[in-house]
Parts: sequence; C-alpha cells; structure tokens
Amino acid sequence: MSGPVTTLESRPKVADASHPSSACVKVTESRESQVGEIRVRRALPTKGRRTVGAWCFADHMGPADVTENSGLDVGPHPHIGLQTVTWLIDGEVLHRDSLGSEQVIKPGQLNLMTSGGAVSHAEEATGHYRGTLEGIQLWVALPEHTRHGAGAFEHHTELPQDELDGAVATVLIGDFGNLTSPARRDTPLVGVDLTMHGPTTVPLRPDWEYALVVLEGALGVADQPLPPGKLGYLGQGRDELRIDAREPTKALLLGGEPFPEPIMMWWNFVARNRDEIDAAYASWAKQDDRFGRVKSTLPLIPAKAPFWH
Ligand code: MN
Repeated sequence: MSGPVTTLESRPKVADASHPSSACVKVTESRESQVGEIRVRRALPTKGRRTVGAWCFADHMGPADVTENSGLDVGPHPHIGLQTVTWLIDGEVLHRDSLGSEQVIKPGQLNLMTSGGAVSHAEEATGHYRGTLEGIQLWVALPEHTRHGAGAFEHHTELPQDELDGAVATVLIGDFGNLTSPARRDTPLVGVDLTMHGPTTVPLRPDWEYALVVLEGALGVADQPLPPGKLGYLGQGRDELRIDAREPTKALLLGGEPFPEPIMMWWNFVARNRDEIDAAYASWAKQDDRFGRVKSTLPLIPAKAPFWH
C-alpha cells in the first residue's frame, strides 16, 4: 500500500508526546482516502495519535468490487524504515517486490514485508480473482538496529488461534496470551484479529499501550461505542480488557511498548530526519539502484517531493 500524502502527514512529527500511562478510551475518527481505485479509512496516523507501540499506519481498505485485472492497482513504490503488514478479510491481492517475491495473499494469511533501508513493491490484481476486496494494511516502524538493514518478505498461512469466551483470536504478530506468532518482529508489539460473536475479555500487558480498529460490526469498550471508521486508543495500565460485541464483529487489537524513538513520516518513508527522507526521495525520483526493481505491469508511482523542497 502506498500512503498518499496529506497536509496532516506533511509535517514531520516526533512520536506522540502523550502516551498516557493510565487506561483510557480515546476515540478518533479515521480519515477517508483513496489508494488506487479503493476507498480506504486511515485510522493511523491521525492528528494527535501517530503511533501505538511501533504501529504507525493503519488503512482499512474496501470493501470494494475488484476484477481479475483491476483492483488495488498500487504500482511500484518505495519504502524505508518500516514493515508492511497485510491482512485481508475478503478477496485476494498479488504482492510483488524488489526482493523477487511474488505472492498472492488470501483471508487468514499474513504478508509481512520488512523494508530495512530500502525496498519497493507493488500490489495488484491477481489475474483470476473477481469479487469483493476488503482488508487492512498496517505499517510497523523499525527500530534503529534494523531500519538500515536488509529487506525481507514473509508469507504466513498458519497463524496461532485461540478460542476466547466470545471470540476467535488470531495472532498476526507477537505474543498474545500463551500464543506466539511465527512472524518476525523487531520490537515488543502485538497484532491480533478478533472475530467476535459476543462479549469477550482479552489479556493485555499493563506496560504496553493498545488500540482497537473495527473492520466490521460494532463493539463497545467501557460503555463507549466503537464502530468501523474509528480508532479506539486504550492507553496503558490494563491487564485485561472487556470488549462488548453487539453483533458479529471483526476488529484488530494493536499494541506494544510505546515506541521510544522519535519518527518522521513522509509519503512511504519512516525516518528520523529530513536528510534521510531527502535521500530516499532522490533515489526514487532518479530511479537509481537503491530500491531495486519490481516486476510489475503497473506504472511506477512517482516520487512525492518533500514539502520542504
Ligand atoms: Mn507500500
């Protein structure tokens, strides 16, 4: 996924100064955006909330009707300093990247691409799937010790699941209860799909911060409604959370240790300062060797000049 620039994202930001050390429920509105032909609702970053743990971007895409040859249609574009986490609840997407990976992803599977210092990728129609496409793409900010490193790609078809009292929990990344996802993680964080049919209690770590993003249905936390199109930030300090699902609901629980490093986001780059973003921008603009090549039939997405140019 490509993160289109908005005025909100055009200003460099350090990590949130306000990571409440106590439990809370702060509901913020997602912003409507467009990625390729698909409508997305961006729950992160928003004004006042840049990160939850190392999670720094959350796009709920669709539902949308796609065909064999058109759909997401996100042409080759570069990333630095992050991981992309792709999770579908309906449909199929073809991932291609500059590492040579070519992978169709389906619901229940995880695509995890680590940019390290530079990678490029495309997200395309599969050539055979026609129907509804819906899912979420998340970014994880990489820490200092891996953000300049090698790129990598993982595809996971088997993820640990647990039956909770009113939900099935699927662990995308990290530890949840007694379960551990096989997916790579470079900082302490967790991402869990909650497919809920009733009230559910989920285990949390008091020293981590958390948020909920609802994809379908509706739920409530501490008597506050949380429908799709919003982010429910939960702060820290809970060892468990009661979630009241009022109908069949799909939600993502995101959490982690508050990210200790100030990050700067511009376009598809997660960096620490303008010089790093300038260098990445220049490499993509002139198509030097830094970001490699993606075997894609889609046109390259043009480099977006930083606002300070
Ligand atoms: Mn992308």
